[in-house]
Amino acid sequence: MPAKAPPKLDWMDVLNEQFEWNTTEDLKNWFTKLTGKQPDLPKASINEFQKCLNFIRDQVSALHFDEPVDTKTLDKKLSGIKLSMDKADVLPPLHAKAQGSSDADLLKAMEETILIQFTAFLSDFLSDKGETSLNRCEGLYKEQRAFDGESLAPPMETEKRWRKEIPILIECKLLASPEIHRCGDFFIGKAKARFCSETCRFRTFQLNKQLTDPVYLADKQRRYRQRQQ
Ligand SMILES: [Zn+2]
Repeated sequence: MPAKAPPKLDWMDVLNEQFEWNTTEDLKNWFTKLTGKQPDLPKASINEFQKCLNFIRDQVSALHFDEPVDTKTLDKKLSGIKLSMDKADVLPPLHAKAQGSSDADLLKAMEETILIQFTAFLSDFLSDKGETSLNRCEGLYKEQRAFDGESLAPPMETEKRWRKEIPILIECKLLASPEIHRCGDFFIGKAKARFCSETCRFRTFQLNKQLTDPVYLADKQRRYRQRQQ
């Protein structure tokens, strides 16, 4: 049997993975999965990487909510990138050239490569006049996690706009809930596709049932009252 192909660097996959990250360890594990080595990454380069992912996420939100994309900042970022077709193990054939051989240099090259990939997507998206549809999964899942503070997940302010698209989150007053979340997966597909996978669709169906169950609602109200005391 042929060996399983190693994961490839892809801007949308990284954005979807980032949504699941809670700590810098999660980011480092992702790096290891891609490169096969335990990274030595200073906090500053992790922050830079996160900042770039959040910038891309903001542009994806702008596309979805029909707002202008920040092409000025994008242009500025692109102007500093050196493109290369040199052989590079982890990076795809067309990639940003690493400035050195440290893990931080590789992470930077990954960051810039993701930005190039996103820009290519954006260019197609803007020129095909609505034929491409960029969807975010409407699935829900349950997990105790924070979206602010030390978490590497996107800020809650960004998240709230997306959560407002799911009626049950409004009805059950869960827009800022730390335990019920909208699935973070983006995917390109038919305009009507709502879920990233069958598993996610089924899990959401079960959770919807639970959320509208009177016993669950009564328990939630009880816990809310306890917090108020
Ligand atoms: Zn999903």
